[in-house]
Amino acid sequence: MNSSELLRSTSSLPEHETRRLLVAATGRHWTELILGVELEADDVEQFETLVRRRLDGEPLQYIEGTAAFGPIEVIVDPRVLIPRPETEQLFELACDAIDDPKVIVDLCTGSGNLAIALKHRFPTAIVYATDLSPDAVDVARENARRNRLDVTVLEGDLFEPLPDHVAGRVDLIVSNPPYIAEHEREGLPEDVREHEPVAALIAGPVGDEVLARIAESAPEWLGPDGVVVCEISEFLGAEVAAHFAGLGGEIRRDLAGKERFVIASRRIRL
Ligand code: GLN
Repeated sequence: MNSSELLRSTSSLPEHETRRLLVAATGRHWTELILGVELEADDVEQFETLVRRRLDGEPLQYIEGTAAFGPIEVIVDPRVLIPRPETEQLFELACDAIDDPKVIVDLCTGSGNLAIALKHRFPTAIVYATDLSPDAVDVARENARRNRLDVTVLEGDLFEPLPDHVAGRVDLIVSNPPYIAEHEREGLPEDVREHEPVAALIAGPVGDEVLARIAESAPEWLGPDGVVVCEISEFLGAEVAAHFAGLGGEIRRDLAGKERFVIASRRIRL
């Protein structure tokens, strides 16, 4: 079958999704497909399988197997969260908050997206990434390798797996920790609830539990000019600001105008 005909006859999904699935199914370049090439029956069948998976609610990036994040691309599968646009904004905020970080730590690294993008941006920094999930650690290591960037990925709870000599010397701590409250779980979009790892999303009964623990331990790890930037729930700005009050925590909004980040530092003004 001709690829442009196939695209025209598939109307069950938004056009940009159909295109991406055809690229994923055939491995061919998009421009070739839109001009119209003859497709093997196997490719057509594979495409139809992917369309069905998408219609069943599987996130597009899991089907494609990759996600773009700032300057890099990472592999993603149901072991890790799919990086969100808000988190790209967290990356930008972190880059703007600091000049020449020597030591960077990413907590709850998941796919490794933040840690690897930061190593890309600050190639001379030593970058550590931690995650409680052994599966996430595997994915993050694989992503660092694929991007040919040197990130030390450690398994464990928040700061716990970091080497002792890093204490008091970290210039930048970033985290997109779990921050959703248990009671919000049922209200999550179905593709998120059914496919993405729950442990990466739900923090506890309130939602600020992991952020509170980060705020509590951060002073021990930060260097004199160190900065912490975390993603937070839009509903918990006041609570999170209070947790980070000792470090002058300020809340920042995302592009949609929602309170989405906390930025904190030992320095008086940011
Ligand atoms: N660091 C990853 C992200 O920002 C994963 C976050 C998480 O698992 N809570 O997308």
